Amino acid sequence: MDEPLRAWRDTLEDLGVMGFVREPVEPAQAQPQAAVPSSAPPARPAPARVPAGPEVKRAPRPVPPAPSAYAPPADPIGCPPPEAVAAAPDLTALQQAIQGCLACPLGPSRLKFVFGEGDPHAKLMFVGEGPGRDEDLQGRPFVGKAGELLDKMIGAIGLKREETYIANVVKCRPPDNRTPTPDEACACLGYLHRQIELVRPAVIVTLGATPLRELVGISEGITRVRGQWKRVQVGGREIPVMPTFHPAYVLRQYTQDVRRAVWADLKAAKEWIDRPAEG
Ligand code: SF4
Repeated sequence: MDEPLRAWRDTLEDLGVMGFVREPVEPAQAQPQAAVPSSAPPARPAPARVPAGPEVKRAPRPVPPAPSAYAPPADPIGCPPPEAVAAAPDLTALQQAIQGCLACPLGPSRLKFVFGEGDPHAKLMFVGEGPGRDEDLQGRPFVGKAGELLDKMIGAIGLKREETYIANVVKCRPPDNRTPTPDEACACLGYLHRQIELVRPAVIVTLGATPLRELVGISEGITRVRGQWKRVQVGGREIPVMPTFHPAYVLRQYTQDVRRAVWADLKAAKEWIDRPAEG
């Protein structure tokens, strides 16, 4: 048994999954070629035609009350201007510029701002959805059970957490761990773009559907898209993106198929960053 697979087996056993049977690992999907993978996102399926039928009268739907408008503050601490974000020369300066942000409704309810952490020049960058309860308490991304699993997933491909960079689409916890709204994600996305520009990763692994939708612009189900190389243009660079499941999903759906899929996705990302430099 080779070292990464042994580490993965240890991960499973640490999480209480006993009797793990080694099965042959399928070849990683969509092996990267010399150039940035160019698989275009599949076209959206055409809407199904519904045959005309007798007219059915429905009761009018109740109109939900309009959400209370959130007015972001006008000052540069509560709402850092894009020029200040773009001018941040490094991650420390960027964090200082945006850590007081109140530009969307998630800001006032956070306990801690969760900027992101890791090697400022990491080749491999993970992007998740947003902070949960543990992250909000600690001010760090991916702590708690999902974070522990992410650490083990990283270990299984022969890296340490601190050799990667980990960030989220939104820096403040959505209430009740709900998915950030498109407006909230949009308000925060400039910060993530600047983080990516400064880290300059060779590969981004998106964790779950939200970063794939908000960062890469792909709204298809993660189950269908995971394992297929995508790409994103940030700061004039085209960066390969490997979509995979969020560790919290892996914990909920602890099947061998899901674990094997994540293993294959991370292995493909690792192989991409380990490929010989082009001459
Ligand atoms: S989630 Fe992002 S945009 Fe919203 S307040 Fe927090 S840092 Fe600002």
